Amino acid sequence: MTSAVFSPITGEVVDHVAAMGSAQVDEAYQKAANVSDQWRRVPADQRGRLLLKVAAMLRERHEEFAHLETLNTGKLFKDTRREAERAADCFEYYGGFADKVTGDTIDVPGPFHTYTRREPYGVVVGIIPWNVPYVFAAKKIAPALAFGNVSLLKPAEETPLTALLLAEVLAEAGVPEGVAQVVTGGAETGRALVGDPRANLIVFTGSDATGKVIARSAADNLTPTAMELGGKSPQIVFDDADVDAALEAVLLGVFAATGQMCIAGSRLLLHDAIYDEFLRRVTERVRALRVGDPREETTQLGPQVTAAQRDKTLALIEQGRQEGARVVASASLPTDERLSGGFYAPPTVFTEVTAEMAIMREEIFGPVLAVTRFRDEAEALALAHATDFGLAAGVWTNDLGRAHRMAAELKVGTVWLNTYRILSDRVPFGGQRLSGYGREGGPDAVQLYTRTKSVWTSLEPGPPPGYRM
Ligand code: NAD
Repeated sequence: MTSAVFSPITGEVVDHVAAMGSAQVDEAYQKAANVSDQWRRVPADQRGRLLLKVAAMLRERHEEFAHLETLNTGKLFKDTRREAERAADCFEYYGGFADKVTGDTIDVPGPFHTYTRREPYGVVVGIIPWNVPYVFAAKKIAPALAFGNVSLLKPAEETPLTALLLAEVLAEAGVPEGVAQVVTGGAETGRALVGDPRANLIVFTGSDATGKVIARSAADNLTPTAMELGGKSPQIVFDDADVDAALEAVLLGVFAATGQMCIAGSRLLLHDAIYDEFLRRVTERVRALRVGDPREETTQLGPQVTAAQRDKTLALIEQGRQEGARVVASASLPTDERLSGGFYAPPTVFTEVTAEMAIMREEIFGPVLAVTRFRDEAEALALAHATDFGLAAGVWTNDLGRAHRMAAELKVGTVWLNTYRILSDRVPFGGQRLSGYGREGGPDAVQLYTRTKSVWTSLEPGPPPGYRM
């Protein structure tokens, strides 16, 4: 069976990709199990060098990846070019990290030498969503391989193209067959992968609804999981902030990638004293946003990745209106006939929102900003926490004490102070509450992709004192 792959720019079918069934998933597991021990035993520095070679080869094919990603996701070239760099950076970072994993020696009473080893899990299943397919494929495969695991990666059925190209590059670089496999298909293929007892670790990025289903299924085999889920992140702007910088970050924070970011700053909390002027500037900018073909230099927002996502955004905009929120700004959709089949949604700004409304609670994953006001830190925090998600928050203030008070109080995985949407493989990333658990990136990646083994050694002959039947 195959499924059609669309370009959201025009709505045209651009490829067909296998929807793998249980027999093919079984075959993938067999191949992975066959090479797992062999790969684990490859010296870490050699694994690292291979990943560095992959990084260099990816850089050479940078433009090809960016073009393919734009075609399949509808994201702007300037974004997919940066993402192509991030994917290569990711292989470089974990290539360098591979041989820097260490255990501990632990002093214990008695004649023993005791130490820990960090060991790979074995077969790691990575499942990713459709919004940032190339970077997420790299973020799942590179650390898994670096630390001695083999990887089964399932991209979203809507956007498998760059993950498949990445698999080709991995093979060309000399990654042994079976060590990094891309398993294509939708939810059914995913279910077969996560329900298999041969999965030793599942690292999932996607929606909280799917995350819960996967965690339940994994529980049957006690397979450990990590969950990178959705968000409803607030950008909190105090009256002493650098408002020019805040304005740019607020616009990019929610409208970049057409709002299809887990870290989208989709709620804007403005201090009373700057509310009117800041909102005026936001609305002026949003009305002028250019939505259109992401391959054109002047375009600021491309389409949504799928028709279903576009429809969900439009439905939530309508629900916002019905629930009494007010649309204060909206940008026009492209009129170009060529794009008439594309999946475009209008950037939209709501005010007069309440914490109960769907547009304030639910992750929209589209270009929609809800704006509200606060009087003091306590009220800003209460509003920030009026959601079940806890992925990220932006705080804008020039009061150092306040910035760090807010950073300590916010119940989220990442806080940006006077900046937003900056990410690095060197820095742990993950959520709280419905935004998930587990941390990818930086030293936390070692914790995630390896487990501890404790080794006790007797330093003296014969049984230690008191250890006789
Ligand atoms: P989704 O949860 O619908 O799908 C994600 C992946 O899971 C896809 O590959 C899909 O095929 C697979 N899948 C679906 N049902 C499955 C099942 N029962 N068993 C196994 N696999 C299954 O998410 P989406 O709509 O593709 O992506 C959007 C979501 O991803 C948003 O909620 C967004 O916030 C989230 N996301 C989170 C992060 C993060 O790092 N926290 C980053 C990006 C996106």
